[in-house]
Amino acid sequence: MTAKTLRNPSALAAAGLVAPERVPALERVAAQYAVAITPAMADLIEADDDPIARQFVPTEAELELRPQESGDPIGDFVHSPVEGVVHRYPDRCLLKVNHACAVYCRFCFRREMVGPEGLRPLSPAALDAAMAYIAERPDIWEVIVTGGDPLILSPRRLADVMSRLAKIDHVKVVRFHTRVPAVEPERVTDELVAALKAPGKAVYVALHANHARELTPEARAACARIVDAGIPMLGQTVLLAGVNDDPETLAALMRAFVETRIKPYYLHHADLAPGTSHLRTSIEAGQILMRAMRGAVSGLCQPTYILDIPGGHGKVPVGPDYLADGPNGGSVEDPAGRRHAYPPKPL
Ligand code: SF4
Repeated sequence: MTAKTLRNPSALAAAGLVAPERVPALERVAAQYAVAITPAMADLIEADDDPIARQFVPTEAELELRPQESGDPIGDFVHSPVEGVVHRYPDRCLLKVNHACAVYCRFCFRREMVGPEGLRPLSPAALDAAMAYIAERPDIWEVIVTGGDPLILSPRRLADVMSRLAKIDHVKVVRFHTRVPAVEPERVTDELVAALKAPGKAVYVALHANHARELTPEARAACARIVDAGIPMLGQTVLLAGVNDDPETLAALMRAFVETRIKPYYLHHADLAPGTSHLRTSIEAGQILMRAMRGAVSGLCQPTYILDIPGGHGKVPVGPDYLADGPNGGSVEDPAGRRHAYPPKPL
């Protein structure tokens, strides 16, 4: 196994993941967007363009910007009342304690905020202010701890965050968003899992994974430690060209989630983050995939296909619509594509 996380193009070349002659061009990419590939992910990469490499190995294509792309595609800054908090919907908010990750995804929607050159971690005073903001707003029922990746924090720091949230009565649910159980499963120790829990709070862990191969035996064991501790898990996936944009690959991932006791939650349409057009699909392609999954794959394996509207206007489902109006009444399409009158004609 690769010994440690690869953090620059020269290290990627030394590990055989990129050709040495590409290093100077990739240094230009790495100067803009952070690079990190953990040993667990580096060991899964079999070819330059395989689904794991496409997610984590930088490419020159990231220097190609499109006019609609934005450094803040989902409008975090517009909805940030205090440092570290994004409050877009009344009953929930994001709490971004750190801006570092175990891996840096080439399609990340916060790619201009995360990494060594990104936003600073919250200072103790900023964390106090963020907690005060949450405590003063009784409408906040759920806090989503994200980043960066919160599960790279030490158990001591996570326990501190949870003990502060535990004191806020109106916060009933705490959700962690992370890639760690898959990309660095050895971090998920019993001590870390214990730090995620707090008396009186329902805790969920949402795992971001995009290909079934990420759910290695070690990753599945890490998730089992979380679920066995009484913490339900959800699956989050980004629809990515050349990674998971065919029905068999997507179905295999959703089945791998469910086998690991992770309920597929969202399939995100890829955000308009800078330099990511080579990884985006069309929404129509996503709808065709969702149609192919419906009927062919268990209902437990069906995520909701979601678009985060650029500019911070919120998330909406954009999956296929099975209902249609017609001149003689409505109709509904079945999983095989046949249309049926609905309501049915009287017998
Ligand atoms: S782990 Fe999440 S926040 Fe970090 S680079 Fe990947 S997508 Fe972005």
